[in-house]
Amino acid sequence: MKRVVIASGNAGKLREFAVLLDPFDFEAIPQAALGVREAEEPHITFVENALVKARHASRVTGLPALADDSGICAIALGGAPGVRSARYAGEPGNDARNNEKLIAALKVHADHRAFYYCALVFVTHAADPHPLIATGEWHGEIIAAPRGEGGFGYDPYFLLPEHGCTAAELSAEIKNRISHRGKAIHLLTEKLRSMQSREG
Ligand code: IMP
Repeated sequence: MKRVVIASGNAGKLREFAVLLDPFDFEAIPQAALGVREAEEPHITFVENALVKARHASRVTGLPALADDSGICAIALGGAPGVRSARYAGEPGNDARNNEKLIAALKVHADHRAFYYCALVFVTHAADPHPLIATGEWHGEIIAAPRGEGGFGYDPYFLLPEHGCTAAELSAEIKNRISHRGKAIHLLTEKLRSMQSREG
């Protein structure tokens, strides 16, 4: 079984990625277990940050690596909070303060549409010139009062008009199927499958 380093310390994501890689005969190993420190995320796009994280983990371990970067983008705010989503209201990241800041920023706008975005990057080695890249978007709108107990981050304020509920009111199973991360994982699965069938 081929080992793949996962460039994340988030337990929920590590579980999701282990499931993603299982059918491909890849063993998912958290970067912390291999002594890899978190990489800086200096860029203004999700894809660039995910690439930096994957390359860093691969360079340190000599293994193929999988990384992700995600966040929420409000249309009226030119895509903010964007890559700053986790720390939108400053360090250390705090969901309540982030949500408060986002709602205050949108108050002066009529357009409350927003979308979650997830970028996944898989590199076979640190200098891989053709990484597998999969992205997913999940569109909704920001509401002023929270609804639901599930999910995390911006979920209680993220309304999905076609479902008539917020992301925090969905079961984890449904959220994982239709979310930005779920969509990106599905696409990456297809790309891994074609890579493996090419390589035989
Ligand atoms: P990460 O870089 O994927 O760990 O996520 C960055 C930040 O984006 C999180 O701390 C959350 O604030 C936000 N975020 C990303 N995905 C979600 C989600 O599915 N629900 C709620 N917030 C999310």
